[in-house]
Amino acid sequence: MTTTEPAPISLQPLGIIHTPYKQKFAIPRQPGLVSEAIGEIRFFSPFNDINCFRGIEQFSHLWLLFRFHQVQERGWKPTVRPPRLGGNQRVGVFASRSTHRPNGLGLSVVEFVSLKTDKGQVSLQVRGMDLLDGTPIVDIKPYLPYADAHPGAAGGFASQAPQPVPVRFSADAMIQLEQLSPEPDKMQRLIQAVLAQDPRPAYKSSQSRPQSFAIRLDNLNIHWQSEQNRIEVVGIENICAEKA
Ligand code: SAM
Repeated sequence: MTTTEPAPISLQPLGIIHTPYKQKFAIPRQPGLVSEAIGEIRFFSPFNDINCFRGIEQFSHLWLLFRFHQVQERGWKPTVRPPRLGGNQRVGVFASRSTHRPNGLGLSVVEFVSLKTDKGQVSLQVRGMDLLDGTPIVDIKPYLPYADAHPGAAGGFASQAPQPVPVRFSADAMIQLEQLSPEPDKMQRLIQAVLAQDPRPAYKSSQSRPQSFAIRLDNLNIHWQSEQNRIEVVGIENICAEKA
């Protein structure tokens, strides 16, 4: 028996999520790893209707389905090299959570924070997402602990959360943060939590010599250095000032 090819399916984004993650580099590799990060989904018509969300505040967590919109054009391959395996071992695309996959769909559990309406714009605030700023959201569902949580489940090659890396701030970076951020303490906690995930590419984290990197979070450009298993934030600047 031959299987006929099904017709393509099209998806209509419900809205766009706005997050502090302005570039792919350094976004946590899974949801829930950086609970300091808060995002806001703003909805398009006809989903920009508060009735669509009635009862949602009863759930502490939500599933977000989304499109990995920034890698769509790169397509997919049957096997991928997950960073958790050091980037040099291949597994099947469906045995991974790689962004390069057929249909480019992502799935993340996030914490519900609040639901707001302001001048006719419905927005949903969530915490702990692993999504790039501007990611299109294609569905939202409540997380049901009795059905979705499996404490004894086997996690394969990613059975444990990654070990956090110690992060410190130089005196200069602390002064710059105080000057540039309206909420320096909050921002410091976010930077710390993001860098503790060790965003270095797998092949670089095995190198012991000092290396320099920069990441963008909100409107800040954060310069940091790594040496062996330690990270230091060495400078912070405003992205707008840098461009001017
Ligand atoms: N919850 C995801 C999943 O399984 O669907 C996690 C897997 S994926 C490895 C997580 C990575 O996707 C992030 O670290 C970030 O680099 C990347 N990412 C997030 N949003 C994206 C987007 N809109 N387009 C492309 N890549 C994105």
